[in-house]
Amino acid sequence: ALPDGTGLMTLEHSHGARNYAPLPVVLRGGEGCWLWDSAGHRYLDMMSAYSAVSLGHGHPRLVAALERQVRRLAVTSRAYYNERLPLLLERLCQLFGYERALPVNTGLEAVETALKAARKWAYQVKGVAPERAEIIACDGNFHGRSITIVGLSSEAQYREGFGPFPPGLRRVPYGDAAALEAAIGPDTAAFLVEPIQGEGGVVLPPAGYLEACAEICKRHHVLLICDEVQTGLGRTGAWLACQHEGVRPDGVILGKALGGGLLPVSAFLADRAVMDVFRPGDHGSTFGGNSLAATVALEALNVIEEEGLVERSARLGRHFLAGLQALDSPAIRQVRGRGLFIGVELVPEIDARTLCLRLLEAGILTKDTHQTVIRLAPPLVITEAQLDWALARIARVLGSR
Ligand code: PMP
Repeated sequence: ALPDGTGLMTLEHSHGARNYAPLPVVLRGGEGCWLWDSAGHRYLDMMSAYSAVSLGHGHPRLVAALERQVRRLAVTSRAYYNERLPLLLERLCQLFGYERALPVNTGLEAVETALKAARKWAYQVKGVAPERAEIIACDGNFHGRSITIVGLSSEAQYREGFGPFPPGLRRVPYGDAAALEAAIGPDTAAFLVEPIQGEGGVVLPPAGYLEACAEICKRHHVLLICDEVQTGLGRTGAWLACQHEGVRPDGVILGKALGGGLLPVSAFLADRAVMDVFRPGDHGSTFGGNSLAATVALEALNVIEEEGLVERSARLGRHFLAGLQALDSPAIRQVRGRGLFIGVELVPEIDARTLCLRLLEAGILTKDTHQTVIRLAPPLVITEAQLDWALARIARVLGSR
């Protein structure tokens, strides 16, 4: 028989690397916005696997598409064409208005893809000397955990002991367009930015920031690349968070929810002028764009569109944000967000992790970031009643007056 919850956690501690410190709950099943553990307790999922499960757990259309395709064909690599990938590429390009899409698997892989494209573009198109192209990112960013990407991080823990990092990686303060302009030099290839910082604690830059960055990048012939791995596909109440600012970046990175919560699927989108720096053999990935991944991603996009989840995220996000902002709790410093992407910043005396544990006891799964922020990012299929159910419990745990 399967060990009980405590037994399973012990088993994981004995054999697993210690690179995570999960909340003490062992999940067994899920449906829609609900999850349950091995003891049969039920929880409302307000984390959606860092926004990967935007369609909820086990969405019937996604499961059916996956089942159909897995029986037909799953993986053949990009050594051959398959019947599903071309349809996904066409759909991505039409939906987001780019000429080309490059499919890979995880968010970090798509970020690496974008950085490689930008560097080669700088070399080939902009005329930057070989091996000189620079990338600028922001303080507080999160783009993944490869050595190159943590080389862009301002987080000491992500970097410490993992260097040396590749040269040409720079950083500017988030939300400060003048600082970006001052940092741009002749060798700058790209500015990589999250339209709203996710792991950084749901940080919204000042209105007009992204638009100003776009203008600066254009003027200096620098690529603007938006990492929409977490913010994209309806999470913030728009297909892309950069669309709130009326900005069309030179490159867009998608991941997480693109896999419908079932598979790792990511992509880098750009026009030919950038993407065509890649020639056969330059870049790739065994599993990127496989038949199964392409089928699931295509169905995920269809579900988001046909169920109106982008509009739903905007509408329910406004409702939930207003409810949270109305809480009168001494524990809360600020509630902020856009769509169903919300951060509750706590006063410094209160540890976010402790509150997450109490929310867990109250039947709500959330995640602390940076000790002071609780992120609330439920599946976009959540109902108003479920949000109100969560709000009542959050109010209780936070000691709202
Ligand atoms: N970019 C952003 C904005 C992210 O939030 C994340 C993951 N939290 C990543 C990239 C990396 O994605 P993955 O974990 O799939 O590599």
